Amino acid sequence: METNILRLAIQKKGRLADNSLELLKSAGIRIDNYSQQLLIKANNFDLELLFIRDDDIPEYVQDGIADIGIVGENVILESGKQLKTIEKLGFGKCRMSIAIPKMDSFNSIKDLVGKNIATTYPKILNNYLSANNINAKVHYISGSVEITPNINLADAIFDIVSTGSTLISNGLKEVETVLKSEAVLISNNNLSESKKLLLEQILFRIRAVNQAKNNKYILLNAPNESLQKITEMLPGVKSPTIMPLAIEGWSSVHTVISEDDFWNKIENLKNAGAQGILVLPIEKIIV
Ligand code: ATP
Ligand code: ZN
Repeated sequence: METNILRLAIQKKGRLADNSLELLKSAGIRIDNYSQQLLIKANNFDLELLFIRDDDIPEYVQDGIADIGIVGENVILESGKQLKTIEKLGFGKCRMSIAIPKMDSFNSIKDLVGKNIATTYPKILNNYLSANNINAKVHYISGSVEITPNINLADAIFDIVSTGSTLISNGLKEVETVLKSEAVLISNNNLSESKKLLLEQILFRIRAVNQAKNNKYILLNAPNESLQKITEMLPGVKSPTIMPLAIEGWSSVHTVISEDDFWNKIENLKNAGAQGILVLPIEKIIV
């Protein structure tokens, strides 16, 4: 018998765990009896959560043990599994880079020829090296890759970087960014029609929440003679709302603007005559 519950695999503990649960919560999915069990059913949605190590998520989703999963793109690439990425989720952002001791010289990746490179991600590194025709020795290390150059175990490392402070405190410098990664929603390739429908519903909610996060609601006052210039700067979801103020010759403009280029826009609005600018967070956007 076909079950009608969609099973989502998420990281049990670690950098993606809180954000994954937070995303479901903001999508209105309630998980009340959360107590580090392996499998939990949501209270108000046909969704089941499977809590596992992030490295296991690509395989579980490929094999259909879970229907969908939330995992870093880096982990999918390293797994070598062919999985459908449904949506980028905007958290767990990091880059994967090659780093070398800070006193060593570096002109190009050709300098890596014949070097020992330590990493937890041998597959991604080997693919990168062969794509660039670099013959180097890749050493798999399960953790603390950043200390290997200091103990003469490697000449270089390939690892995840977010701020770069771990590299600096180990006397390393980043010399080459190999890829950028963030958490994504992945899906099994053979979902039943009923599960596809559940996925669509979740996706609709996730998109509404994530769109809202990338946008702000903005209200401002402007003299009527500046209105045209100001509205040209503000596209809005359809177009801005303009209402007359009680004072003659002034209007209030309401609209939605994107987080990208936000400060530039505010500056330009002020220069165009906008006053009393209010910026508010948005909870959800349904377009
Ligand atoms: P698990 O026990 O589930 O195997 P882990 O130790 O492999 O956990 P975490 O350190 O929790 O993994 O990282 C999970 C994911 O978070 C990474 O695969 C990566 O996609 C992302 N990430 C974002 N920033 C960082 C960072 N600074 N360091 C490591 N991972 C990061
Ligand atoms: Zn892991």
